Amino acid sequence: MSFKTGKTYHGFKLLEARHVDEINSDAKLFVHEQSGAKLLHLGNEDDNKVFSITFRTPPENSTGVPHIVEHSVLCGSRKFPIKEPFVELVKGSLNTFLNAMTFADKTMYPVASRNEKDFRNLMDVYLDAVFYPQMLETPAILMQEGWHYELPDKEAELTYKGVVYNEMKGVFSSPDAILEHQIYASLFPDTTYGVESGGDPEFIPELTQEQFVAFHKKYYHPANSYIFLYGDMDLEDNLKFLDAAYLKDFTGVEIDSEIPLQKPFKEMVVKVVDYPVSPDESTNDKTFITLNIVAGKATDPESYLGLMMLEHILLETPAAPLKKALLDAGLGKEVFGSYNKSILQPTMTFGVGGANPEQVDLFKETVYAVLNKLTTEGLDKKLVESSVNIFEFHLREANYGKHPKGLVYNIKCLDSWLYDKNPLIHLAYEPALEKIKQQFRHGYFEQLIKNCLLENPHQALVTLKPNSKIGASKSAESKAKLAKYKEGLSQAELGALVEQTKALKLRQETPDAPEKLELIPLVELKDIDPKTEKLVAEEHKQQGVTVLLHPLFTNRIAYLNLYFNTGAVAEAELPYLFLLADILGKVDTEKYPYAELAKETNIHTGGFSYDVFAFSENSDDQIYTPMFRVKAKALVSKLPELFGLLGDITGDSLFTDAARLKELIRELKATWDTALFRRGQQVVASRLLSYLSPVAKYNEVGQLTYYKFIVELEQDLDARISEIGQTLAKVSQTIFNRNNLFIGITCEHEDYKTFCQKLPVLLGKLGTRQYEPVTYSFQAKARNEGLMTSGKVQYVAKGGNFRRLGFGYHGSMKVLETILRYDYLWNRIRVQGGAYGAFAQFERSGNVVFGSYRDPNLADTIKVYDATVDYLNNFTAETVSKREMTKYIIGTISTMDTPLTPQMKGERADIAYIRNISQSDLQQERDEILATKQQDIHQLAQLVDTVMKTNTLCVLGGEQLIKANKELFGELVTVIE
Ligand SMILES: [Zn+2]
Repeated sequence: MSFKTGKTYHGFKLLEARHVDEINSDAKLFVHEQSGAKLLHLGNEDDNKVFSITFRTPPENSTGVPHIVEHSVLCGSRKFPIKEPFVELVKGSLNTFLNAMTFADKTMYPVASRNEKDFRNLMDVYLDAVFYPQMLETPAILMQEGWHYELPDKEAELTYKGVVYNEMKGVFSSPDAILEHQIYASLFPDTTYGVESGGDPEFIPELTQEQFVAFHKKYYHPANSYIFLYGDMDLEDNLKFLDAAYLKDFTGVEIDSEIPLQKPFKEMVVKVVDYPVSPDESTNDKTFITLNIVAGKATDPESYLGLMMLEHILLETPAAPLKKALLDAGLGKEVFGSYNKSILQPTMTFGVGGANPEQVDLFKETVYAVLNKLTTEGLDKKLVESSVNIFEFHLREANYGKHPKGLVYNIKCLDSWLYDKNPLIHLAYEPALEKIKQQFRHGYFEQLIKNCLLENPHQALVTLKPNSKIGASKSAESKAKLAKYKEGLSQAELGALVEQTKALKLRQETPDAPEKLELIPLVELKDIDPKTEKLVAEEHKQQGVTVLLHPLFTNRIAYLNLYFNTGAVAEAELPYLFLLADILGKVDTEKYPYAELAKETNIHTGGFSYDVFAFSENSDDQIYTPMFRVKAKALVSKLPELFGLLGDITGDSLFTDAARLKELIRELKATWDTALFRRGQQVVASRLLSYLSPVAKYNEVGQLTYYKFIVELEQDLDARISEIGQTLAKVSQTIFNRNNLFIGITCEHEDYKTFCQKLPVLLGKLGTRQYEPVTYSFQAKARNEGLMTSGKVQYVAKGGNFRRLGFGYHGSMKVLETILRYDYLWNRIRVQGGAYGAFAQFERSGNVVFGSYRDPNLADTIKVYDATVDYLNNFTAETVSKREMTKYIIGTISTMDTPLTPQMKGERADIAYIRNISQSDLQQERDEILATKQQDIHQLAQLVDTVMKTNTLCVLGGEQLIKANKELFGELVTVIE
């Protein structure tokens, strides 16, 4: 049907309709007249439909109330009165995206699906949840999701527990989260951005049930909402549903959710804050220094784009002038920055990590000196062109990987919509981009530096320095506070707390009644395509090199993956392979100094990246192919330049600039120092499997082993630098050879011809030696390490390899993953244990990992893993209905059927080819998943039990708790010195 501006459709008045060329969509902006709800539809051919409802939710304090409400509305509602409808949807819907997110000033509830029926179901459950949640009447929900006093018996120690409480304790374990919070508190002392919307663990226990309910009452009304619909759909039918099922029951009211502006400062604010490190950890080189500036306006499309580009120019490439100046001045080891545009008053941050407190003045002077110099002398035009180009490439490519496109557009809309401006101004980027392209050679960015950064006193200089004493004293303080509170309680009050703790536990342990669970709508198995998605690949030979072509529509972009077999690299030199992946493209080549190389790359291509990965041979983890992978993309017309640059980088990189190598290694070390804990889940899982699986052992060299390698190199950098350079050159020569190269290319047939013509440009640069693989020694040994850090939560992993214990792989294991993740482990480790989450993973190769993340427990979690066998023994026809099984199968398929971009489809086929996995292997797995019965899951009990009894485990976490459980471990290892 055709919609007319000014007319009303099912209560929605159409305010504006236009085509947005940049995203090839028809946009329609409505208001629901009775309730006041705003709605935007972006119509196009994308079948990955998106719905979301967002509320403007500016918090007044750091109790985390928006975040806890976000969790809690998904814990049961009027039409779906069960404990966790959200989890039921994850278990058994065809969603391609399902989540809820708390931002600094808004809370967003997005879903996506390609199936119409499923899409409608998801909308229904989400809308009922946000408007009619059980959290309003059920205090147990705040206790579980937010916080509560836990007292198992009168004599026990009183503690705080709760999902968000633990989640935020985990978040605040990493210094970058503390730093970010301090930055916003400094820049916005009088507005909502100065408090922590996620919740500061120190303040979360101040939240009362009354405040919690009041927050929902105030903000969760259609008049304060922003509804978004995206994709190929019957719009009228959706409007009808929204009106009839929900919005007609609300009348518009005035809601004061407006975000006030922070009054600009007259002068810069200076702040120094401590963060905790372990008592015996050194505090040297662990300070972060940042300069933060409130710059531009979220509602101005030009400064929005311009300041993002400016941040890239100044900091993000090896040619970036501010980054270079900071490193040259010896300021820290790591330079970082960001432009945060998703708040009313966007902020620019420039910072260094790995510094020391006495360098604050030098840091400040250096930043200003560089900015002043750039405005008077002008920016390097080629550098500016390269940054503008890479932004334009990414804008036009609109490749967001696994994220639904509609979701990314949704977030961009809200960057202006939430502040009462038109939602389309950032999506229709062409005018702003055009203006910048016309003016960047004539002082555009220089002017931006002057106006937004230099002549603007709304700034904060925030320093975060390590303190090895406050960690212990803070936890002692919190313990003392709880002990004092407990002392003040009467016997009756203590009894009440014990009862409350028991009641909550009982509620958590009691499953929902089956008839209530059935209220959650479910699609049927027949709605699922029985065929697995085809691997799109044609095998070709070009000049002796195997090329796998994935002929797909890519809008004239070529996605190229070069896979160099690394089997000839000596075992002792494997860490250098990972180092090479980290520094390639950042050192000089024979033709270009590294800064020039970066500019050339960004001017002509969509960027290169490098990684190392060993792929197991189909189902055998003893046989594997280790690969150095180069990912590259460019417009097809730019393939000659792309091959030229790749040829330089792989054939002619120089590793002789000692100063540059040192700088890069120091930077890597600093990045890892802060990222190690965040990557905890990956680190422990790979470490655990490395005890027993050769392929995992190889991949682990890129994880904790690599971090330790970098730490060691950095300690002795001056003495070892020439040896490092020589080894890198040797490794590079060994792998960049045309005899061990395999290429994957994704583009249309027509463009493939151009690829073939230009390929010799690259091949001519590569070695032609005989390729001689070496053998690696591998000794299986369960080391059971306790990896100690200053963190407050744990990552607990346990597992093994079931093939070596006599079992084979079966598709039903994928269904078991879903069951464990969203039922057994979810209840026991997240809901009852208070961890952020837990998972189990069963690989074709036989490798199994059970893992928890941001987990307050350790030994109890291992007990839960061990008891999986009891859960599976009880997984019988009496306890599990057919409907339940259907739900788990649908949930499993939905994780496998996430829509892929052409680039991802190409990569999937490349990996299947390398691993010798055929279409029929994948079809067999899908058939097995679709045919999984309750008995198949029940039968996996023995396999899981046998694996757990091998007692192979690895934990990364807090030093105290690991030491307290030392009998569980084979070795205790201090991870961060
Ligand atoms: Zn959360």
